[in-house]
Amino acid sequence: MRDDDLIKPSRVKKDLDKLRTEAECLLKEAVSRDEVEAVRIQSLGKKGNISQILKLMGQFPAEERKELGKLANEARDFVEDLIAKSFERLEKKARQKTLSGQIDVTLPGRKPQQGHKHPLTLTSEKILNVLQNLGFDLVQGPEIEHDFYNFEALNVPSDHPAREMQDTFYVDKDVVLRTQTSPVQIRTMLSLKEIPIRIASMGRVYRRDQDVTHSPIFHQIEGLFVDKSVTFSDLKGTLTTFVEKVFSEKARIRMRPSYFPFTEPSAEVDMSCFQCDGAGCRLCKGTGFIEILGAGMVDPEVFKASGFDPEKVSGFAFGIGVERVAMLKYGISDIRHFYENDLRFLAQF
Ligand SMILES: [Zn+2]
Repeated sequence: MRDDDLIKPSRVKKDLDKLRTEAECLLKEAVSRDEVEAVRIQSLGKKGNISQILKLMGQFPAEERKELGKLANEARDFVEDLIAKSFERLEKKARQKTLSGQIDVTLPGRKPQQGHKHPLTLTSEKILNVLQNLGFDLVQGPEIEHDFYNFEALNVPSDHPAREMQDTFYVDKDVVLRTQTSPVQIRTMLSLKEIPIRIASMGRVYRRDQDVTHSPIFHQIEGLFVDKSVTFSDLKGTLTTFVEKVFSEKARIRMRPSYFPFTEPSAEVDMSCFQCDGAGCRLCKGTGFIEILGAGMVDPEVFKASGFDPEKVSGFAFGIGVERVAMLKYGISDIRHFYENDLRFLAQF
């Protein structure tokens, strides 16, 4: 700028216009905060263009000084406003960039992780469903049980050698953690008093036993049918249908004489191996059959203890271990997997 130019007010007006236009152009193209900041320093800073122009005001007479001062202030306000808007614009752009980096709206949605039913729940639901379809009503009984229901009424008096068959958890002399679901049979017969009785009961039972196939807490399902002239062939028919529905339509059963205090006669029930269909494989240890449950005709002593005349009624009962069925069905080798709550195990079902 030459001194002779500066004294002309028209020149000052021109410079102010130029400053506005330049700032507007530069800010429009600015892509970073640094670039906007550079424009701010150049136009409005202490040594910036506006300051330079304002310094010259003293040279002009009062009238013109007033007019030019007003124009200079307007130019300053104009540029300040543009700078603020530019910062805002850049910030908005940066925010959008961050957001679009985190959320790719074209990606397929993530499925929320859903819970699974426990394999023991799946197994007992399956078994109970089959029994319900066969006409059995579901009943429940307490897990802390009186000696009478768990032993005495089931034909296991205190001096009976069968008490040694089970390692019992005693709460006190007369109270135990039930060792089987059979006490529910006694409770039901004592409360119903009328035939026919057709019940199934599922629940936790307790024994002092622990290894890869035994757990101190496990689950049993019990079935009881009492009516006039119920026979052993009714039992066999029911169990045949039961294994067909629970395991495989091709399943057959085989009954071997056995002993339980509360049934007479008693039988261990084997099922034809569902993996090899009786030909023999690793699962059935080459025998073609798998031991699956215990059953028998209700012992007359049990009827007497439950308020029924064994001359007038007859019935059958059977009990099955839920863990055993689940291990067979899913090919699980260690019973402890069921209770460890390891998601790698549970998520497979
Ligand atoms: Zn087999």
